[in-house]
Amino acid sequence: MPIVSFAVRRSRSLSRLLAAISALLLILSPLPISAAPDDSAPDQAMSTISADAIRADMRFLADDALEGRGTATRGHELAAKYMATRFEGMGLQPAGDNNTYFQSVPVRSLRTDVAKSSFAVTRKGSPLSLSSHVDFIIEPDPVRPEVSVDAPVVFAGFGVTAPDQQYDDYKSLDVKGKIVALAQGAPNFPSSIKAHYSAAEVKAKTAADHGAVGVIALDDPVSEAIYPFSKFVRDLTNPEFRWLDKDGHPNDYFAQIRAVAYLSIPATRQLFEGSGHSADGIFKGAKEGKLSTFPLPVTANIHTVTESKDLRSPNVVAKLEGSDPILKGEYLVYTAHLDHLGIGEPLNGDAIYNGALDNASGSATILEVAQAFAHMNPRPRRSILFVSVTGEEAGELGSEYFAHFPTVAKHSIVADINIDEVFMLYPLTDVIAFGAEHTSLENVIQRAAKRMGIVESPDPMPEQTVFIRSDQYSFVKQGIPAVMPSPGFKSSDGSKKAWDIAMKWMDDTYHEPNDDMNQPNLDFAAAANFARFTFLCGYYVTQDTPRPTWNIGDFFGDQYAHLAR
Ligand SMILES: [Zn+2]
Repeated sequence: MPIVSFAVRRSRSLSRLLAAISALLLILSPLPISAAPDDSAPDQAMSTISADAIRADMRFLADDALEGRGTATRGHELAAKYMATRFEGMGLQPAGDNNTYFQSVPVRSLRTDVAKSSFAVTRKGSPLSLSSHVDFIIEPDPVRPEVSVDAPVVFAGFGVTAPDQQYDDYKSLDVKGKIVALAQGAPNFPSSIKAHYSAAEVKAKTAADHGAVGVIALDDPVSEAIYPFSKFVRDLTNPEFRWLDKDGHPNDYFAQIRAVAYLSIPATRQLFEGSGHSADGIFKGAKEGKLSTFPLPVTANIHTVTESKDLRSPNVVAKLEGSDPILKGEYLVYTAHLDHLGIGEPLNGDAIYNGALDNASGSATILEVAQAFAHMNPRPRRSILFVSVTGEEAGELGSEYFAHFPTVAKHSIVADINIDEVFMLYPLTDVIAFGAEHTSLENVIQRAAKRMGIVESPDPMPEQTVFIRSDQYSFVKQGIPAVMPSPGFKSSDGSKKAWDIAMKWMDDTYHEPNDDMNQPNLDFAAAANFARFTFLCGYYVTQDTPRPTWNIGDFFGDQYAHLAR
């Protein structure tokens, strides 16, 4: 059973206090509050949400004809046209570029030229025996076609500098001009703060800030169990991507970092030989969240040759205008990524990664939520944007681009509700709201759960860093309160059945060609119930006069809220 950390519980009760204050403000507010709350309105709207419609939308989006909806492919373009067509049919307005339903996202596709690139590590003059795609992966450089680095290697623990947590792996290290080798993850901070500090781009920036010139990420048994090194190698059949800003600069690029590589477990073992520290000791320390730091007796020479191509891929943006004369100038955003992995390495003769749960399910969900809102009369008070984002699998690109360059004023966006991978594999009994503990959205989640007769469960797998692994995080980093509700893992009979089904799915089906419509257990009634829950969360956000707020003293609010003002 999951352990609820003290910090999470503390912030939950804080948000309850804030909710009580908001409720009080609502009573005292001079702003018009919607006419007598007709409590049946959301029930009527929710009754239009249908399991059949979710199944039908998923069946189209996950069809082989769409070839796995890879970012910047024809399959994804067709899927985007489908989403736009459905929104248009509901009477939603275009809210992308130039009065269209599409926001064109400039992206750069990147591949390492494996034949021309090299990675060599030497200890006391003799080379370690390492081979490409077995022992290491060299990441492409987002700007330089060819770049090299030759430097000593320092083990910098997790590579985390977190003043807010009084923690610094670089405290007694000199990494100037050196390459840092980093364990996966972060110390045992509260779940979403741990997730934030585990992010590769945060670690790369931290390394650059301390003067490092290269990063070598190290695999370990915990990461291997979540997503094996062999799958990273397999996924190299598809390019990597970055999004480009208005000046053509790629996101999260730190020119000072001249190489990024990823080492397998056997290669990691070789790296620690002769250092006085065993790899097993490091793996154990990483798991427990406690690592020492020390120079390794090795130097690394990494030469990276990158092939790149600049392309475009669409976000789909549709608007339902609100009914309140003032609040209609503010927007709730629903996001769900439409892209998946495209065509890749075949498994049992099937090379199409259909992405039925990941994320045709979330795409179908926001379509049903949109039509439920579109049926309401009067319409919800605030306006709503439905954004079907591209490039999530390639690094949350479409949502980052939208959050940086929204098609409405950034400060007018009050919240993001993101849906990714609806676990529609058993009846809906509970929900998990990733990231809700940071904002007053926690209150919205609890009201929606109560109305649906389901319970809210804490994040049962903080090591999976779910909070940073989908599109809600892009909004958080722009200071916008965001949450990813997800079906939980409880069974109504109290057994572990649902949990076991979900974990088996993670092992056998997640990011595999068999995440398609033929998989057993798809429970469309559960998906419809979850869509109703998702609708209700948004309904409360659109109706409540005060907009969602960051909790006082919240880590993410303190860091990012100013960006949304
Ligand atoms: Zn995915």
